[in-house]
Amino acid sequence: MKVAIVGAGLTGSLLACFLARRGLTVTLYERRPDPRVAQVERGRSINLAISERGLNALRKIGLVDEVMADALPMKGRMIHPVTGALDFQAYSASGDRAINSISRGALNNALLTAAVAADGVSVEFEHRLVELDSAVGRMVFATPAGKVSVEADVVLGADGAGSAVREQLLAEGIVAENVDFLDYGYKELSIPAVDGEFALDPGALHIWPRGTSMMIALPNPDKSFTCTLFWPAGSFDALTSASGIEDHFRINYPDLLPLAPNLVDDYLNNPVGVLGTVHTLPWQAHGRTALLGDAAHAIVPFYGQGANCAFEDVVELDRCLDDTGGSWARALPLFEARRRENTEAIAEMALANFVEMRDKVASPVFRLQKQIEHT
Ligand code: FAD
Repeated sequence: MKVAIVGAGLTGSLLACFLARRGLTVTLYERRPDPRVAQVERGRSINLAISERGLNALRKIGLVDEVMADALPMKGRMIHPVTGALDFQAYSASGDRAINSISRGALNNALLTAAVAADGVSVEFEHRLVELDSAVGRMVFATPAGKVSVEADVVLGADGAGSAVREQLLAEGIVAENVDFLDYGYKELSIPAVDGEFALDPGALHIWPRGTSMMIALPNPDKSFTCTLFWPAGSFDALTSASGIEDHFRINYPDLLPLAPNLVDDYLNNPVGVLGTVHTLPWQAHGRTALLGDAAHAIVPFYGQGANCAFEDVVELDRCLDDTGGSWARALPLFEARRRENTEAIAEMALANFVEMRDKVASPVFRLQKQIEHT
């Protein structure tokens, strides 16, 4: 039984680890070069909040201790108003529950290394899927050496929000998709360490709620913070000069300015990412081709659950294979039936949390409500 996984990101690499434990022959096809030796792309979400949902999957493949060794637990939100004192809001009444800031690159590399170390798993980098015949499992990849055609018994699309597998299934008339783009973009900035120490409290997820927009910051193991601006689409273009950028931050994010010496360079050179929710129906075809993770159901990042949710997909698919005696034809529809309701719920919650983070967390009423919930 040959399984092809398209995309060696977080979902694909984890999936390969799980399928290897079943004794399957798995090939990962990744359009990029090996991330363990290649340069990280500038300004592309360098850390993720990983919660118990994600850790559960890592625990099952024995990787949780390695990943958590460099994780930074964040036990609450730290609200930065325009003026006035910082406001720490714990995630739990006991104050000890946390989400973990984890480097996306390190997590991907750990998963990839674990996957290729497993019996039966191989990986082909610089292989970009360009054609798929989902009924027979025939794929064509564009590679630096030209086009390569391969076949597999099962094809799993773990190739992210802009999935080529999904696009091929769409062209075959097998799936319908709806991509709801948010009228917001995101851009990353950085706060370096100061004298070798964190410039802000590393035990919190920092939020600068500003009504219709916001900024967040998560700590990194090198004692820097990665900030992400979530602003209405188009508003990034309004600031074009160093003085204009500095003035804007001085007025709206005054405590950031002294902590971000590279602000202007980051702002002018880091890309603006798009945000959206992907709805796909169905997620599988012919009982042998399926979509998982962002390829099936990308969500906006405000609940910090996209990767966690993708990891749950992998655990559930593994469970479905257990429950069907390893029959892909039965496991894939079962996987979709069990997961769809959950992924639709998290997509809605992620959108709702944007309003909470950018606006409500700054309100005294919200704070009181949280205190009541915690008592
Ligand atoms: P991806 O990470 O997109 O990986 C897809 C892989 O497929 C890539 O390696 C890509 O190169 C490859 N690929 C693409 N096309 C092809 C092709 N044609 N052929 C071969 N390979 C291909 N989630 C959380 O849980 N917590 C967070 O805090 C969080 N924060 C986020 C912040 C931001 C700003 C954003 C944008 C997302 C955030 N997410 C977070 C969501 C998380 O990043 C995604 O849910 C997660 O990366 C999905 O993993 P994936 O492997 O399905 O897709």
